[in-house]
Amino acid sequence: MNVIFLGPPGAGKGTQAVRVCERLGIPQISTGDILRRAIKDQTPTGLAAKSYIDKGQLVPDSVVIDIVRERLERDDCKAGYLLDGFPRTVLQAEALETFAKIDAVVDIDVSDEKLVERLSGRRVCLSCGGTYHVAHLNGSTTCEKCGEQLIQRDDDKAETVLSRLSVYHAQTEPLIDFYTQRGLIKKVDGAQPMDECYAAILAGLGV
Ligand code: ADP
Ligand code: ADP
Ligand code: ZN
Repeated sequence: MNVIFLGPPGAGKGTQAVRVCERLGIPQISTGDILRRAIKDQTPTGLAAKSYIDKGQLVPDSVVIDIVRERLERDDCKAGYLLDGFPRTVLQAEALETFAKIDAVVDIDVSDEKLVERLSGRRVCLSCGGTYHVAHLNGSTTCEKCGEQLIQRDDDKAETVLSRLSVYHAQTEPLIDFYTQRGLIKKVDGAQPMDECYAAILAGLGV
C-alpha cells in the first residue's frame, strides 16, 4: 500500500508514521528528516534547503520532488511506502502522480491552537528521528531509543511556528480538496490521544 500522511506541522504525522510503518512493514519517507540529515551532513541539497527551513518556508518544489522520485526507486519501496510530509503543494502532488500510484491519503486534523502547544514542546533526536514532547519526558533530555541528546528544532521556536502554520494553510491545505476529488482522503481527528489516533488511522486504511 502506498500512503500519504497529510496534515499541519505538529499534527502527529511522524509519531504515527513510525507505528504504522512498523505494523505494515513499509518504509517511512519523511522529506523533513531527509532534509535535516542533508543539512547535518552539509550536502549541496542541505545547504540549499537550510535558509528556507530556518524561515519556516517550504523548500523549492524541484528539490523535494527530485528527492522523493529518487527515494521511491529504491527496492524497499516495492511493497509499499508511507510519505510523511510530502507532497506539500499542488505542484508536488501533480508531479507525484507522474511517478507514483497512491492508494490512500490520511488527513490528520488538529486546531492551530493545539499545534502551537505541540510544536513548542517538541524535542527530537537527530540521530534516529525519535520525537518526544516535554510534557512526557519527565525532565529527561536523552533519546529513549538510542541515548543521543534531544534537541529543540530551530524551526519549532515560536516565531517560526506561526509562519509554518500560515504556509500550511496557504500552500498545503488545498491538497485536501485535490485528494478528495480523487476519492483518496481518510480524515482522522488528530486531537485525540496517540493510541486513539493510531487506531483511527488503521481503521481508515482498512488494515
Ligand atoms: P513537520 O513535521 O513539523 O511538519 P517537517 O519535518 O516535515 O515538519 O518539515 C520541516 C521543514 O522541511 C518544513 O518546514 C519545510 O521547510 C521543509 N520541508 C519538508 N517537506 C517539504 C516538502 N514536501 N516541500 C517543501 N518543503 C518541505
Ligand atoms: P508532525 O510530524 O505532524 O509535525 P509529530 O509527530 O512530530 O508531528 O508530533 C508533534 C508533537 O506533538 C510531538 O512533540 C509529539 O510528541 C506530540 N504529539 C503527537 N501526537 C500527539 C497526540 N495524539 N497527542 C498529544 N501529543 C502528540
Ligand atoms: Zn534517538
